[in-house]
Amino acid sequence: EIVFIAKETDAHEGRVAGSVESVKKLKSLGFDVVVEAGAGLRSRILDSEYEKTGARIGSAVDAASADVVLKVRRPTDAEIAGYKSGAIVIAIMDPYGNEAAIAAMAGAGLTAFAMELMPRITRAQSMDVLSSQANLAGYQAVIDAAHEYDRALPMMMTAAGTVPAAKVFVMGAGVAGLQAIATARRLGAVVSATDVRPAAKEQVASLGAKFIAVEDEEFKAAETAGGYAKEMSKDYQVKQAALVAEHIAKQDIVITTALIPGRPAPRLVTREMLDAMKPGSVVVDLAVERGGNVEGAETGKVVEVGGIKVVGHLNVPGRIAASASLLYAKNLVTFLETMVSKETKALALNMEDELVKATALTHGGAVVHPAFGGAKE
Ligand code: NAD
Repeated sequence: EIVFIAKETDAHEGRVAGSVESVKKLKSLGFDVVVEAGAGLRSRILDSEYEKTGARIGSAVDAASADVVLKVRRPTDAEIAGYKSGAIVIAIMDPYGNEAAIAAMAGAGLTAFAMELMPRITRAQSMDVLSSQANLAGYQAVIDAAHEYDRALPMMMTAAGTVPAAKVFVMGAGVAGLQAIATARRLGAVVSATDVRPAAKEQVASLGAKFIAVEDEEFKAAETAGGYAKEMSKDYQVKQAALVAEHIAKQDIVITTALIPGRPAPRLVTREMLDAMKPGSVVVDLAVERGGNVEGAETGKVVEVGGIKVVGHLNVPGRIAASASLLYAKNLVTFLETMVSKETKALALNMEDELVKATALTHGGAVVHPAFGGAKE
């Protein structure tokens, strides 16, 4: 059976769905691997490196004979038209609000898997793309903030005087936020953080940052069984905004990472809060593509809002593509391995497997995921 590793067609996408390591693994699982020419270039993987692992370098037309297509982004209609009916396609599908695109994959007879729907259970930890990519995004957010900030982050005591440490506030202490805290601490900043999930409190403290939150009854129940945040009530949001407004005015750098699965990102930083910050402060909105945590943040841009730099880079994991691709490729191959029979070394898809059930969007010509129009169980 053939696995095709596609070259991403989106101009903003530097990542690739296969690494040298993952191709080796695919070969050992019994697959023939075809890598589209140039697929890895933006992640610093040369065609010749893939070739050395036994992969064949091909072109987009080779997708037509693939049993499995590995991608970073959801295939476009043009790409879908090039795949054979019955093929498995695995990517970050961005399914919410993209029901038409999902229907198109169903119509083409594809079995499409959305990696971001992987359940957060121990067995699937090594397949968790939200974690692998968010971790790097959290790191990169601090690097981007430091780049826009016109002062030093660490305190520096020199013969010529002392430079004070920057104050960094991280909003949303999930995977990205915790890595942002750790990175800002490594750079010597004084770090505080907030979240609505009580579990975050200890994690923030263990990284040496100060935890700031409205810790009322609603806060105590804000974590879903899946480990995600609930959308908070208006009442909570008002209390949170008051606390944040006071704190944020004293910060030099704010990094926001707050997301709610399947919902627009919560608005955490208003224009008034930006106005209260010191000129030259930097705000990085990692949620900008999901509606934004920061009022005035613009997708794909760094904008000045009343003297504050508001950073809204697109595809932040893609800004650190070579690292992100390594981890993403590993996530993919680990998932694909669960679909391969150990005895026959052939694909043996079990639609009842809990990982398959959670991530399969389309199968057998139909949308199968209940959250996106598939039949309810
Ligand atoms: P996420 O990307 O969905 O959200 C980012 C953070 O924003 C979360 O911590 C969330 O609580 C926070 N947030 C949401 N609304 C907010 C608001 N109004 N104000 C402030 N913060 C808000 O979350 P995530 O980073 O993917 O992970 C959430 C948690 O899931 C992790 O911290 C971890 O405990 C758990 N997790 C478990 C596994 C696993 O078991 N395999 C893997 C990864 C993460």
